[in-house]
Amino acid sequence: MALRKILTMEHPVLRAKAKKVSRFDPWLERLVNDMRETMREAPGVGLAAPQIGESVRVLVAEYEEQQVALVNPEIVKASEEQELGTEGCLSIPGYVGDNVPRALAVTVKARDPKGKEIRIKADGWFARILQHEIDHLDGVLYIDYIDPKDVRPVSEDEMVDEGEVIERDPSGGGTTVEKHGRKAGGASKAGAQKAGGSR
Ligand SMILES: [Zn+2]
Repeated sequence: MALRKILTMEHPVLRAKAKKVSRFDPWLERLVNDMRETMREAPGVGLAAPQIGESVRVLVAEYEEQQVALVNPEIVKASEEQELGTEGCLSIPGYVGDNVPRALAVTVKARDPKGKEIRIKADGWFARILQHEIDHLDGVLYIDYIDPKDVRPVSEDEMVDEGEVIERDPSGGGTTVEKHGRKAGGASKAGAQKAGGSR
């Protein structure tokens, strides 16, 4: 396994549509292992292959007890209900974006690194992570969804370097991210807002 360099957003590979994987070979297994190691070292909760310069449809994500490596992932179902949240991205270091809309729940169809078909149902924070990572495979970044004024330097009480996606306000009723025994002291006001006001 090897740590790989995480590219930042000015790199064109992050804006390209990544290619589907057609061979489930040792190269793919190595790529997944490198991505996991790089994500954990960052540390982050998700990483997409284009972020390390490989323009293929592969992502890894780890959140609480959920750990996935997804090849050719596709969102086959998304809840109509959306939620606004604050996200960071390992490819946009030092910044976060507020009011990023995401479906509350998604079903993702993919293959595992051995080629076996899998289906994952996710909601809440894990659903947000998966949507963020799948977007990377299409050259989409969270900043594409929001007003430029909602992109801001990360404040001291947020843990942007803790993850691809940072914690939202615990008072928002969502799950809180706790990694390495640490917890964010404060979080964005955006976390408690709900799109559409349906709840
Ligand atoms: Zn990202």
